[in-house]
Amino acid sequence: MNARLIDGKSIATDLRARVAAAVRALDEQGVRPGLAAVLVGVDPASEIYVRSKSRAVMEAGMRAFDHKLPADAREDDVIALVRRLNQDADASGILVQMPLPPQIDPHKVIAAIDPAKDVDGFHPLNAGRLARGLPGLVPCTPLGCVILAKSVRPSLAGLNALVIGRSGIVGKPVAQLLLAEDATVTIAHSRTVDLPALARQADVLVAAIGRPNFVKPDWIKPGAVVIDVGINRIADADGKSRVAGDVDAGAAAVADAVTPVPGGVGPMTIACLLANTVRAACAQHGLPAPDL
Ligand code: NAP
Repeated sequence: MNARLIDGKSIATDLRARVAAAVRALDEQGVRPGLAAVLVGVDPASEIYVRSKSRAVMEAGMRAFDHKLPADAREDDVIALVRRLNQDADASGILVQMPLPPQIDPHKVIAAIDPAKDVDGFHPLNAGRLARGLPGLVPCTPLGCVILAKSVRPSLAGLNALVIGRSGIVGKPVAQLLLAEDATVTIAHSRTVDLPALARQADVLVAAIGRPNFVKPDWIKPGAVVIDVGINRIADADGKSRVAGDVDAGAAAVADAVTPVPGGVGPMTIACLLANTVRAACAQHGLPAPDL
Protein backbone atom coordinates (compact mmCIF):
# COMPACT_ATOMS: atom_id res chain seq x y z
CA MET A 1 0.00 0.00 0.00
CA ASN A 2 1.43 3.37 -1.04
CA ALA A 3 -1.52 5.70 -0.60
CA ARG A 4 -1.83 8.06 2.33
CA LEU A 5 -4.60 7.08 4.72
CA ILE A 6 -7.09 9.87 5.28
CA ASP A 7 -7.62 9.57 9.01
CA GLY A 8 -11.33 10.26 9.43
CA LYS A 9 -11.17 9.50 13.13
CA SER A 10 -8.64 12.21 13.85
CA ILE A 11 -10.24 14.75 11.47
CA ALA A 12 -13.60 14.05 13.17
CA THR A 13 -12.01 14.46 16.62
CA ASP A 14 -10.67 17.88 15.59
CA LEU A 15 -14.08 18.94 14.26
CA ARG A 16 -15.77 17.76 17.45
CA ALA A 17 -13.29 19.81 19.50
CA ARG A 18 -14.15 22.90 17.42
CA VAL A 19 -17.86 22.18 17.92
CA ALA A 20 -17.32 21.90 21.71
CA ALA A 21 -15.46 25.24 21.70
CA ALA A 22 -18.35 26.84 19.76
CA VAL A 23 -20.82 25.39 22.29
CA ARG A 24 -18.81 26.93 25.17
CA ALA A 25 -18.84 30.31 23.40
CA LEU A 26 -22.64 30.00 22.91
CA ASP A 27 -23.07 29.14 26.58
CA GLU A 28 -21.61 32.55 27.46
CA GLN A 29 -24.40 34.07 25.38
CA GLY A 30 -27.02 31.99 27.17
CA VAL A 31 -27.59 29.56 24.30
CA ARG A 32 -27.36 25.79 24.83
CA PRO A 33 -27.94 23.76 21.66
CA GLY A 34 -29.87 20.50 21.92
CA LEU A 35 -30.53 17.57 19.60
CA ALA A 36 -33.79 15.62 19.74
CA ALA A 37 -33.55 12.09 18.30
CA VAL A 38 -36.67 10.14 17.40
CA LEU A 39 -36.39 6.35 17.31
CA VAL A 40 -39.36 4.24 16.25
CA GLY A 41 -39.23 0.51 17.02
CA VAL A 42 -36.40 -1.62 18.34
CA ASP A 43 -33.91 -2.06 15.50
CA PRO A 44 -30.68 -2.89 17.43
CA ALA A 45 -28.37 -1.15 14.93
CA SER A 46 -30.50 2.02 15.09
CA GLU A 47 -30.54 1.91 18.89
CA ILE A 48 -26.74 1.69 19.01
CA TYR A 49 -26.46 4.50 16.49
CA VAL A 50 -28.85 6.81 18.35
CA ARG A 51 -27.07 6.07 21.64
CA SER A 52 -23.66 6.91 20.20
CA LYS A 53 -25.05 10.11 18.65
CA SER A 54 -26.55 11.16 21.99
CA ARG A 55 -23.26 10.45 23.77
CA ALA A 56 -21.36 12.56 21.23
CA VAL A 57 -23.90 15.39 21.61
CA MET A 58 -23.41 15.44 25.38
CA GLU A 59 -19.62 15.19 25.09
CA ALA A 60 -19.75 18.35 22.99
CA GLY A 61 -21.60 20.11 25.82
CA MET A 62 -25.01 20.05 24.14
CA ARG A 63 -28.24 18.53 25.37
CA ALA A 64 -29.58 15.24 23.97
CA PHE A 65 -33.27 14.34 24.07
CA ASP A 66 -34.13 10.80 23.00
CA HIS A 67 -37.75 10.03 22.10
CA LYS A 68 -38.69 6.38 21.62
CA LEU A 69 -41.92 5.22 20.03
CA PRO A 70 -43.08 1.60 19.75
CA ALA A 71 -42.63 -0.36 16.50
CA ASP A 72 -46.40 -0.24 15.89
CA ALA A 73 -46.59 3.57 16.22
CA ARG A 74 -48.85 5.21 13.65
CA GLU A 75 -47.53 7.68 11.10
CA ASP A 76 -49.70 10.39 12.71
CA ASP A 77 -48.08 9.72 16.11
CA VAL A 78 -44.59 10.21 14.70
CA ILE A 79 -45.61 13.36 12.82
CA ALA A 80 -47.32 14.72 15.97
CA LEU A 81 -44.11 14.17 17.96
CA VAL A 82 -42.04 15.90 15.25
CA ARG A 83 -44.47 18.87 15.30
CA ARG A 84 -44.14 19.11 19.11
CA LEU A 85 -40.35 19.13 18.74
CA ASN A 86 -40.62 21.85 16.06
CA GLN A 87 -42.19 24.03 18.79
CA ASP A 88 -39.72 23.01 21.51
CA ALA A 89 -37.11 25.75 21.94
CA ASP A 90 -34.71 23.30 23.64
CA ALA A 91 -34.49 21.16 20.50
CA SER A 92 -32.23 23.06 18.09
CA GLY A 93 -32.05 19.99 15.86
CA ILE A 94 -34.40 17.09 15.14
CA LEU A 95 -33.22 13.76 13.84
CA VAL A 96 -35.57 10.93 12.91
CA GLN A 97 -33.64 7.68 12.80
CA MET A 98 -34.13 5.69 9.59
CA PRO A 99 -35.32 3.17 8.61
CA LEU A 100 -38.86 3.66 9.92
CA PRO A 101 -41.29 0.73 10.24
CA PRO A 102 -43.15 -0.03 6.98
CA GLN A 103 -46.46 1.58 8.04
CA ILE A 104 -44.75 4.99 8.17
CA ASP A 105 -43.85 7.01 5.07
CA PRO A 106 -40.39 8.48 5.75
CA HIS A 107 -40.95 11.28 3.21
CA LYS A 108 -44.03 12.52 5.11
CA VAL A 109 -42.14 12.46 8.41
CA ILE A 110 -39.12 14.32 6.98
CA ALA A 111 -41.42 16.88 5.38
CA ALA A 112 -42.95 17.55 8.83
CA ILE A 113 -39.58 18.59 10.33
CA ASP A 114 -39.02 22.34 10.57
CA PRO A 115 -36.31 22.90 7.88
CA ALA A 116 -34.46 25.16 10.36
CA LYS A 117 -34.09 22.12 12.67
CA ASP A 118 -33.42 19.56 9.94
CA VAL A 119 -29.85 18.69 11.03
CA ASP A 120 -29.80 15.62 8.74
CA GLY A 121 -30.39 17.94 5.77
CA PHE A 122 -33.01 15.60 4.27
CA HIS A 123 -35.98 18.02 4.14
CA PRO A 124 -36.93 18.88 0.53
CA LEU A 125 -36.37 22.57 1.27
CA ASN A 126 -32.77 21.95 2.38
CA ALA A 127 -32.21 19.52 -0.52
CA GLY A 128 -33.52 22.22 -2.87
CA ARG A 129 -31.31 24.89 -1.34
CA LEU A 130 -28.28 22.63 -1.81
CA ALA A 131 -29.28 21.98 -5.44
CA ARG A 132 -29.64 25.74 -6.02
CA GLY A 133 -26.32 26.50 -4.31
CA LEU A 134 -28.03 28.38 -1.48
CA PRO A 135 -27.03 28.10 2.19
CA GLY A 136 -28.95 25.55 4.26
CA LEU A 137 -28.46 22.48 6.40
CA VAL A 138 -26.46 19.92 4.41
CA PRO A 139 -26.57 16.10 4.89
CA CYS A 140 -23.86 14.93 7.30
CA THR A 141 -22.20 12.03 5.47
CA PRO A 142 -21.75 14.00 2.20
CA LEU A 143 -20.40 16.97 4.18
CA GLY A 144 -17.92 14.60 5.85
CA CYS A 145 -16.83 13.20 2.46
CA VAL A 146 -15.98 16.65 1.14
CA ILE A 147 -14.10 17.63 4.31
CA LEU A 148 -12.03 14.43 3.97
CA ALA A 149 -11.33 15.07 0.26
CA LYS A 150 -10.28 18.65 1.04
CA SER A 151 -7.94 17.45 3.77
CA VAL A 152 -5.67 16.17 0.97
CA ARG A 153 -6.81 18.43 -1.94
CA PRO A 154 -7.59 21.83 -0.38
CA SER A 155 -8.87 22.99 -3.79
CA LEU A 156 -11.09 20.63 -5.74
CA ALA A 157 -11.57 23.21 -8.52
CA GLY A 158 -11.27 21.71 -11.98
CA LEU A 159 -10.74 18.15 -10.75
CA ASN A 160 -12.76 15.33 -12.28
CA ALA A 161 -14.94 13.84 -9.56
CA LEU A 162 -16.90 10.63 -9.98
CA VAL A 163 -19.62 9.79 -7.49
CA ILE A 164 -20.80 6.18 -7.73
CA GLY A 165 -24.31 6.06 -6.24
CA ARG A 166 -27.26 8.44 -6.61
CA SER A 167 -29.14 8.09 -3.32
CA GLY A 168 -30.74 11.18 -1.82
CA ILE A 169 -28.80 10.54 1.39
CA VAL A 170 -25.27 10.27 -0.02
CA GLY A 171 -24.72 10.20 -3.79
CA LYS A 172 -26.77 13.20 -4.95
CA PRO A 173 -25.84 15.59 -2.12
CA VAL A 174 -22.14 14.70 -2.26
CA ALA A 175 -22.20 15.38 -6.03
CA GLN A 176 -23.80 18.78 -5.39
CA LEU A 177 -21.24 19.66 -2.74
CA LEU A 178 -18.38 18.69 -5.08
CA LEU A 179 -19.98 20.85 -7.80
CA ALA A 180 -20.11 23.74 -5.33
CA GLU A 181 -16.35 23.20 -4.87
CA ASP A 182 -15.97 23.68 -8.65
CA ALA A 183 -15.13 20.05 -9.41
CA THR A 184 -16.35 18.59 -12.71
CA VAL A 185 -18.80 16.03 -11.42
CA THR A 186 -20.14 12.80 -12.91
CA ILE A 187 -22.73 10.68 -11.11
CA ALA A 188 -22.75 6.93 -11.87
CA HIS A 189 -25.34 4.32 -10.89
CA SER A 190 -26.42 0.77 -11.65
CA ARG A 191 -27.32 1.61 -15.27
CA THR A 192 -24.05 3.38 -16.04
CA VAL A 193 -22.20 1.93 -19.04
CA ASP A 194 -18.48 1.13 -18.66
CA LEU A 195 -18.05 2.34 -15.11
CA PRO A 196 -14.37 1.26 -14.95
CA ALA A 197 -13.52 3.61 -17.85
CA LEU A 198 -15.30 6.52 -16.14
CA ALA A 199 -13.56 5.73 -12.85
CA ARG A 200 -10.13 5.80 -14.52
CA GLN A 201 -10.68 9.50 -15.35
CA ALA A 202 -11.56 10.47 -11.79
CA ASP A 203 -9.16 12.59 -9.75
CA VAL A 204 -11.62 12.20 -6.88
CA LEU A 205 -13.71 9.05 -6.61
CA VAL A 206 -16.53 8.77 -4.07
CA ALA A 207 -17.99 5.26 -3.73
CA ALA A 208 -21.46 5.11 -2.14
CA ILE A 209 -22.82 1.85 -3.48
CA GLY A 210 -23.30 -0.60 -0.63
CA ARG A 211 -21.42 -3.49 -2.29
CA PRO A 212 -18.26 -4.78 -0.64
CA ASN A 213 -14.98 -4.25 -2.52
CA PHE A 214 -16.93 -3.32 -5.68
CA VAL A 215 -14.44 -0.73 -7.02
CA LYS A 216 -11.34 -2.56 -8.28
CA PRO A 217 -7.73 -1.34 -8.12
CA ASP A 218 -7.42 -1.17 -11.92
CA TRP A 219 -10.35 1.30 -12.00
CA ILE A 220 -8.37 3.85 -10.01
CA LYS A 221 -6.54 6.70 -11.75
CA PRO A 222 -2.95 6.81 -10.42
CA GLY A 223 -2.72 9.57 -7.81
CA ALA A 224 -6.49 9.82 -7.26
CA VAL A 225 -8.23 10.59 -3.97
CA VAL A 226 -10.65 7.80 -3.01
CA ILE A 227 -13.46 8.38 -0.52
CA ASP A 228 -15.12 5.12 0.47
CA VAL A 229 -18.58 5.61 2.00
CA GLY A 230 -19.57 1.94 1.98
CA ILE A 231 -20.29 0.09 5.19
CA ASN A 232 -20.83 -3.59 4.35
CA ARG A 233 -20.80 -6.42 6.84
CA ILE A 234 -19.16 -9.50 5.34
CA ALA A 235 -18.31 -12.95 6.68
CA ASP A 236 -14.63 -13.93 6.75
CA ALA A 237 -13.41 -17.46 5.99
CA ASP A 238 -13.28 -18.17 9.75
CA GLY A 239 -16.98 -17.33 10.04
CA LYS A 240 -16.42 -14.03 11.87
CA SER A 241 -17.96 -10.93 10.40
CA ARG A 242 -16.17 -7.69 9.63
CA VAL A 243 -16.94 -4.40 7.95
CA ALA A 244 -15.73 -3.79 4.39
CA GLY A 245 -16.00 -0.69 2.24
CA ASP A 246 -17.15 -0.38 -1.36
CA VAL A 247 -13.54 -0.10 -2.58
CA ASP A 248 -11.12 -3.00 -2.82
CA ALA A 249 -8.15 -2.56 -0.47
CA GLY A 250 -5.81 -2.93 -3.48
CA ALA A 251 -6.85 0.60 -4.58
CA ALA A 252 -4.36 1.90 -2.04
CA ALA A 253 -1.52 0.68 -4.29
CA VAL A 254 -2.64 3.09 -7.04
CA ALA A 255 -4.32 6.07 -5.34
CA ASP A 256 -2.60 9.00 -3.67
CA ALA A 257 -4.97 8.99 -0.69
CA VAL A 258 -7.77 6.72 0.52
CA THR A 259 -10.21 6.66 3.41
CA PRO A 260 -10.12 3.49 5.52
CA VAL A 261 -13.25 1.51 6.41
CA PRO A 262 -13.88 1.65 9.30
CA GLY A 263 -12.32 4.90 10.49
CA GLY A 264 -12.84 7.09 7.41
CA VAL A 265 -16.22 8.56 6.49
CA GLY A 266 -18.09 6.93 9.41
CA PRO A 267 -16.71 9.10 12.24
CA MET A 268 -17.25 12.24 10.14
CA THR A 269 -21.00 11.66 9.95
CA ILE A 270 -21.54 12.16 13.68
CA ALA A 271 -19.05 15.05 13.85
CA CYS A 272 -20.94 16.83 11.03
CA LEU A 273 -24.25 16.16 12.81
CA LEU A 274 -22.88 17.96 15.88
CA ALA A 275 -21.68 20.81 13.67
CA ASN A 276 -25.12 21.08 12.03
CA THR A 277 -26.81 21.19 15.45
CA VAL A 278 -24.64 24.15 16.45
CA ARG A 279 -25.29 25.87 13.10
CA ALA A 280 -29.04 25.36 13.56
CA ALA A 281 -28.94 26.75 17.12
CA CYS A 282 -27.02 29.84 15.97
CA ALA A 283 -29.47 30.50 13.13
CA GLN A 284 -32.45 30.09 15.50
CA HIS A 285 -30.96 32.70 17.85
CA GLY A 286 -30.02 35.14 15.08
CA LEU A 287 -26.31 34.57 15.71
CA PRO A 288 -23.69 34.24 12.96
CA ALA A 289 -22.72 30.68 11.96
CA PRO A 290 -19.57 29.59 13.80
CA ASP A 291 -16.43 28.98 11.74
CA LEU A 292 -16.13 25.21 12.12
P1 NAP B 1 -28.45 3.12 -1.64
O1 NAP B 1 -29.57 4.05 -1.37
O2 NAP B 1 -28.70 1.65 -1.70
O3 NAP B 1 -27.79 3.56 -3.03
C1 NAP B 1 -26.80 2.80 -3.64
C2 NAP B 1 -26.45 3.40 -4.98
O4 NAP B 1 -25.48 2.56 -5.58
C3 NAP B 1 -27.63 3.48 -5.95
O5 NAP B 1 -27.68 4.74 -6.57
C4 NAP B 1 -27.36 2.36 -6.94
O6 NAP B 1 -27.77 2.66 -8.26
C5 NAP B 1 -25.85 2.31 -6.92
N1 NAP B 1 -25.41 1.00 -7.37
C6 NAP B 1 -25.84 -0.21 -6.93
N2 NAP B 1 -25.25 -1.19 -7.63
C7 NAP B 1 -24.47 -0.58 -8.55
C8 NAP B 1 -23.63 -1.05 -9.60
N3 NAP B 1 -23.50 -2.36 -9.84
N4 NAP B 1 -22.96 -0.16 -10.34
C9 NAP B 1 -23.09 1.16 -10.10
N5 NAP B 1 -23.88 1.67 -9.13
C10 NAP B 1 -24.56 0.81 -8.37
O7 NAP B 1 -27.26 3.30 -0.60
P2 NAP B 1 -26.81 4.60 0.26
O8 NAP B 1 -27.78 4.86 1.34
O9 NAP B 1 -26.44 5.71 -0.66
O10 NAP B 1 -25.49 4.01 0.94
C11 NAP B 1 -24.39 3.57 0.17
C12 NAP B 1 -23.36 2.92 1.09
O11 NAP B 1 -22.90 3.90 2.01
C13 NAP B 1 -23.91 1.78 1.96
O12 NAP B 1 -22.88 0.82 2.16
C14 NAP B 1 -24.21 2.45 3.28
O13 NAP B 1 -24.15 1.56 4.39
C15 NAP B 1 -23.09 3.44 3.34
N6 NAP B 1 -23.39 4.63 4.19
C16 NAP B 1 -22.42 4.99 5.06
C17 NAP B 1 -22.61 6.11 5.87
C18 NAP B 1 -21.54 6.51 6.82
O14 NAP B 1 -21.80 7.20 7.78
N7 NAP B 1 -20.29 6.13 6.57
C19 NAP B 1 -23.80 6.84 5.78
C20 NAP B 1 -24.76 6.45 4.83
C21 NAP B 1 -24.53 5.35 4.03
P3 NAP B 1 -29.33 2.78 -8.69
O15 NAP B 1 -29.77 4.13 -8.17
O16 NAP B 1 -29.30 2.70 -10.16
O17 NAP B 1 -30.04 1.64 -8.01
